[in-house]
Amino acid sequence: MSTRFESGASVAQTIPLCIPEIRGNEWKYVKDCLDTGWVSSVGSYVDRFEADMARYVGTKRAVATSNGTSALHIALLVAGVQPDDEVLVSTLTFIAPANAVRYAHAWPVFMDADPDYWQMDVAKVADFLRDECRREAGGALINKRSGRRMRAILPVHVLGHPVDLDPLLALARDYGLAVIEDATESLGADYKGRRVGQFGDLACFSFNGNKLLTTGGGGMITTNDDRLADRAKYLTTQAKDDPVEYVHHEVGYNYRLVNLLAAVGCAQLEQIDGYVAAKRAIAKRYADALADLPGVMPMKQAPWAASVFWMYTALFDESVWGADFRSLLKAFSAEKIQTRPLWQPLHQSRAHQGAQAYRCDVAERLGRIALSLPCSVGLSEEQQQRAIAVLKKETGHRRA
Ligand SMILES: *Cc1c(COP(=O)(O)O)cnc(C)c1O
Repeated sequence: MSTRFESGASVAQTIPLCIPEIRGNEWKYVKDCLDTGWVSSVGSYVDRFEADMARYVGTKRAVATSNGTSALHIALLVAGVQPDDEVLVSTLTFIAPANAVRYAHAWPVFMDADPDYWQMDVAKVADFLRDECRREAGGALINKRSGRRMRAILPVHVLGHPVDLDPLLALARDYGLAVIEDATESLGADYKGRRVGQFGDLACFSFNGNKLLTTGGGGMITTNDDRLADRAKYLTTQAKDDPVEYVHHEVGYNYRLVNLLAAVGCAQLEQIDGYVAAKRAIAKRYADALADLPGVMPMKQAPWAASVFWMYTALFDESVWGADFRSLLKAFSAEKIQTRPLWQPLHQSRAHQGAQAYRCDVAERLGRIALSLPCSVGLSEEQQQRAIAVLKKETGHRRA
């Protein structure tokens, strides 16, 4: 692509934060849908994508959905979350899981992030369940402050790294709570050698444009429980109770993934090993380059985890960078490099104003000092060096 402005010296191209990688059989499979007319909500690619995802994640079943948020909504319903129940949700996350709790007419109670890996702090969850809840005679767990029933835990594996699941699953068993993993950011990550998405009663994935694997938009529910999978399929497909007659016993949803998009998903999933390897190589290069910069903390990986480093994020110590490290954003954008601060913790968002939050001080600090750096699967080493050069230059200024 040539422009009038490019005379002689080459003009640096914008480096995006995290964009899709489309180099496999996507065209071929989409063309197959178009050629055969199987474009909509029934078709072989939907079945194949579900089977391929179940195999990859390591679950018995997978149910495709229109997006990750609708997957979460249905997973909550299928897990038995009732109106006015409460669900423990990570506060340091993209907003979708908390919104899904509200779609189910339930209430989020926000849990803090741990300072090392930024995942739901399981020790604080244990404290909360022990100190802030009581068990009723019938076995229901009640939040002492709200008087509502606590029904489920929704841990989010943020940024490609798993939550510490074993102690969390033990708590869920002890207190009789369902577990729904939000694995939308961590497809391909392992917890103690097993893929995330197979640990909870149900788990959810997203194929949004910025996720590791994309269909443009799409989602998936995984589970080892046939009954839960059948119910999820039923609710996502308008709750049809007869294959021929229009008979419905419940109000369902149209949350299906169409065959055209499932075709893209099948092609993407064929390439996932290469995507994961690319993300890990990018993370390694950042970790090496950032290690010597003062006040910069590279992303860590727990000993029990194999992260996919979906969104490479570093912390910028306030004592070195000042309270407003966002000046860095300007330095990057002057070089046409896209970066992004991490999320505002959900308990501080107006959307979930009034929701209970339990000792969420770590998430508040992380939300202030984190910055995500370019990390597309297709990021070249040269592009990554440009991003690293900005960091080195800015650190030079601070050191002076
Ligand atoms: C991307 C994402 C989702 C789902 O997003 P959709 O755009 O609805 O597919 C859910 N939870 C988290 C934490 C996410 O990052």
